[in-house]
Amino acid sequence: DPRIDGIQSRIRVVPNFPKPGIMFQDITTVLLDPKAFKDTIDLFVERYKSKNITVVAGIEARGFIFGPPIALAIGAKFVPLRKPKKLPGKVIREEYDLEYGSDCLEMHVGAVESEERALVVDDLIATGGTLCAAMNLLERAGAEVVECACVIEIPDLKGRDRLNGKPLFVLVESR
Ligand code: 5GP
Repeated sequence: DPRIDGIQSRIRVVPNFPKPGIMFQDITTVLLDPKAFKDTIDLFVERYKSKNITVVAGIEARGFIFGPPIALAIGAKFVPLRKPKKLPGKVIREEYDLEYGSDCLEMHVGAVESEERALVVDDLIATGGTLCAAMNLLERAGAEVVECACVIEIPDLKGRDRLNGKPLFVLVESR
């Protein structure tokens, strides 16, 4: 698809951010180009519009940029999966390991009902720990995770292998 090259060309790679040795994939430069931003959303919408998705779950923070326009376009609800202590209602939480230490995602109880068909959206998969925690939250609420969708995959980190066989759809691969 010729749109992919346009999207890839707008991703800015920032060396040594936020730490030495990290090549940070910056998607904010995609958002500056209305065509590349729209193409990104359109590619996801084309894939998911006829899959009976009832809930799009977006991961804080950059899943909040791509998730809502997808949800609106396919007629699904949007549920934010947030870092700890941000959601005001009763939550369920999943902790997951990082390179150093651990992190956590929370979801409102009652936001997702059992038997719902969920799509998990984030900007990027690295080790896969974040998507794995997100899927666990949805499955604990009784939802079926249909697929995970990211703009960027870093294939060298093999995050795909941590998703317990769940399908992952990405637009762009990066080193
Ligand atoms: P993982 O849990 O797969 O190791 O890391 C993925 C999470 O970290 C995602 O929520 C993603 O937003 C963030 N992340 C890690 N590295 C990068 C990066 O290079 N660029 C961006 N935009 N996000 C990153």
